[in-house]
Amino acid sequence: MKPLLNYVGGKFIPAREGRTREFVNPADNSVIGVATESDGADAEAAVAEARRAFDEGPWPWTPAPERAAKLFKLADLIDANAEELARRDSLNNGKPLREAAFDAADAAACFRYYAGLATKPHGETYEVGDPNIVSQSVREPIGVCGQIIPWNYPLLMAAWKLAPGLAAGNCCILKPSEVTPWSAQLLFELIDQAGFPPGAAQMIYGAGDPAAAALAASEGVDKIAFTGGTATGRKIMQAATGNLKRVTLELGGKSPILMFADTDPDVALEYAMFGIFAGQGEVCNAGSRLFLERGMADDFLPRLKAACEKIVVGRGLDEGTEMGPLITRAHRQKVLGYIESGKECGAELLTGGGVYDDWRAAGNFVKPTVFVKTPADAKIVREEIFGPVLVIDTFETEDEAVRKANDTVFGLAAGVFTKDGARAQRVIRRLRAGVTWINTFHFTFNEAPWGGYKQSGFGRELGTHGYDGYTEVKQITTHLAPGRLGWFKGIG
Ligand code: NAD
Repeated sequence: MKPLLNYVGGKFIPAREGRTREFVNPADNSVIGVATESDGADAEAAVAEARRAFDEGPWPWTPAPERAAKLFKLADLIDANAEELARRDSLNNGKPLREAAFDAADAAACFRYYAGLATKPHGETYEVGDPNIVSQSVREPIGVCGQIIPWNYPLLMAAWKLAPGLAAGNCCILKPSEVTPWSAQLLFELIDQAGFPPGAAQMIYGAGDPAAAALAASEGVDKIAFTGGTATGRKIMQAATGNLKRVTLELGGKSPILMFADTDPDVALEYAMFGIFAGQGEVCNAGSRLFLERGMADDFLPRLKAACEKIVVGRGLDEGTEMGPLITRAHRQKVLGYIESGKECGAELLTGGGVYDDWRAAGNFVKPTVFVKTPADAKIVREEIFGPVLVIDTFETEDEAVRKANDTVFGLAAGVFTKDGARAQRVIRRLRAGVTWINTFHFTFNEAPWGGYKQSGFGRELGTHGYDGYTEVKQITTHLAPGRLGWFKGIG
């Protein structure tokens, strides 16, 4: 396979120093291919192209219907290539093909949603004290946007960033994760086919530091949109202070699911599992802390143990796979470290807790793992593991459930399951999280805002909030009957 290349100034080009980085299949750690490896100078070259494309146009002042047409065309091209995009994400990330196929369809839908939004009204007109004055606000693109994404949803995170950024008229530079570069190459081939002007949408491959760090620090970048870990988010905020660029951060989580005893037992079981084991638990909003109303635990736990042991863990592309491998050996080690700390902290291991000794030993597989009776101060309860590890606690009252659920530095997501509608509303409003579900979990909608409270970040993606995050608000005030103010007596 030819090396994957950066897309800069409307051309596929290698990084200047000619360095490359391998990317692998996490199911067996075999090499899939290599991607060009950018450094800070490559990042600055892309910024210079984006700066020119923004300052000299035409993308920022391309009429909204024309911007929309390009995005609609790209959405159609994504649909036409969905199978290959999904295959690449499944092989390179490890996720089951059905999840990668869902991501590809959702990515196309995201471009379509923002194509539509580009042509909708975004301004306002204000009534002010003087009838001869009209005051309005319009939304304008921010400028050059650096977009840094993680490896867990390689294609979908690219769509979440590029679609609103481009729809609003910004010039965007995407930096995919260095471990999952594959689908982005095809995405940018499709962007090239869709006919965006050079410099409107660009991509550079490379390590977080220096390639993405250079974007975060660059004087030529007006906004950084980041999705990734909380520690990296802190570094990006610091790097962004130089020119006070706009920053939005979508970070980690430790999201609670509160399960009340009136929930249908099969629904409770499936959602508890779906909450943590979808995407191998490498999901920012994973329902990694489950709180059971005490009366239901005795029936629930043996059923959960049996069902977890039946989860089909295998290669993403194999028929019937329900959970894939973790992303890298190093990440598997980190997750296994958490599991060991769980065993040592006094929690009880209900199921899982290790690796496989069959063919899966060559890959990065970890068994679906559940701890019960977890001490509230244990590392496995407090820190984001980002793997298939669930911790379970119980509660007696609504107050206790809410107190335990909110006892975290994170605030990305939360879920409540109950047949009592009033209780569901009461409880969900008390949970400190930006994305919440009642009697469902995990599903995201391009139309609805996404983002966290507390250390899960700030700013919102998706929906109209996501579009607004790529705009500046300009006030325009017009005098309909201009005349002398009479302020300076020396004039006439
Ligand atoms: P990460 O923070 O290590 O990397 C994310 C991206 O940041 C990568 O592209 C990486 O190259 C880049 N990066 C690394 N160091 C950098 C630096 N110093 N400056 C600028 N960029 C840098 O995260 P990851 O391991 O790829 O992904 C896992 C994390 O992402 C988890 O914590 C997860 O919760 C979070 N996440 C959050 C959301 C959300 O919507 N809130 C979605 C997906 C993932």
